Amino acid sequence: MTSDATAIDPALIAEVESFQHRLLIRAGFDPETFAQRSDADEVTLPIRIASRGLRLIFRITGHRDRAEEIGSFIEYARERSREAPLLRKLTAERTARDPAPVSRYQRRDDHSFLLEIRSLIRAALDKLPAGDPLRDMIQTIDRTLLATAPLGRCDAWIRASADRRSFAITIDDEIVRLASQMGFLFAEIIGEHRNTMILDSHRAEELLTKADGPITQFGKIVRGFIIDGSSLMAIPPARPSRFSRDVMATFVQLAAIFILAHEYSHAHLGHFDDHGQFLRMMEECEDDDEEAARYQKARTDSIEAEADANARAVVLCVCRFWNYDPSLMGPAAVSILSVYDAVYRSIAASAGFDESRADAIVSRLFDHPSPSERLRRLINPSAPSDVWAHYVAKGLAQHRFEVRPDRIHRRWSGLLTALSRVATS
Ligand SMILES: [Zn+2]
Repeated sequence: MTSDATAIDPALIAEVESFQHRLLIRAGFDPETFAQRSDADEVTLPIRIASRGLRLIFRITGHRDRAEEIGSFIEYARERSREAPLLRKLTAERTARDPAPVSRYQRRDDHSFLLEIRSLIRAALDKLPAGDPLRDMIQTIDRTLLATAPLGRCDAWIRASADRRSFAITIDDEIVRLASQMGFLFAEIIGEHRNTMILDSHRAEELLTKADGPITQFGKIVRGFIIDGSSLMAIPPARPSRFSRDVMATFVQLAAIFILAHEYSHAHLGHFDDHGQFLRMMEECEDDDEEAARYQKARTDSIEAEADANARAVVLCVCRFWNYDPSLMGPAAVSILSVYDAVYRSIAASAGFDESRADAIVSRLFDHPSPSERLRRLINPSAPSDVWAHYVAKGLAQHRFEVRPDRIHRRWSGLLTALSRVATS
């Protein structure tokens, strides 16, 4: 890596840090200790002790299934805490090898994962012939700071430095965990033949309509995200087979590549306005001029479609690089977008909105196409390579999950404020 690769404008890093600080406080985290957190630590001793107590109570009171559920949680927590030292060591090694700049509020485990994904994208693009416009994206990748924060929304925050030579991308910090949970879920609906993935759309469609099928796990992921602010506690299968782990690992990588490539594409394609600031910002647009708003919406939609199309090309390039079936592109997009779609619809419905309007509400709130609009654009149901992804997206979109409004996590306070603003306007 050249010295240019780490040349990120310090003023831009400071901007990202202040943005993360603000979001961490809003979501109820302590910014000073946040960077040291890790998934493995979050399920350790105090929670295990409390869970044991609860299990005993459930056993005594005859709630056998609740007791069993907590039992499997304790097992899972024990396993995760056993992994913790190794994970910490791997994270430290990984980040030491790569001198990429990092924000002081960045969780180190997520940082290390993002570096991994970044190098996968870079390696695949590097194989393209010189002069291929997609290959030029490497320059953008090398000048971009990556960060995560509890955004509480699917799209990311992206900014350019004043001289537009470096960029910063902040994505929702839950994306990594969602991708791995959804990877295990996909392992249940993907067929296996001699350790090869079989994307049988009839089988997927049938499994997703059953109330007690894989949709139960999807519900746990969505509700965990809404109630606990994380899908971490939607415990994956106790002893996943090698095939499940392979499917999970494949989709964690492809889904993260898709999300990151989308953001890199905004920088690469020059989607910035005259002030070097991305058109779509976290601050809500207060503009009353309808014509301007319509223009803004059309401009945003076309920018988003362009970024998604470019991200799609990146995922296909990675698939070629790894010798993967290009039909995995669709499921990679479905994996993350479907969860946010279900989360938005469930929160909108729980907050008393007509669920069928959730799509329109979400795109208006975020001045951004909703996850389901993006899926409709990305997946072509009549293309044989997209059929499986189409049925899975459709299957997942049939469900929403009721949550008591007072149990919605602080991570979603931005969404809730915006929802109530729509209600009173
Ligand atoms: Zn975008």
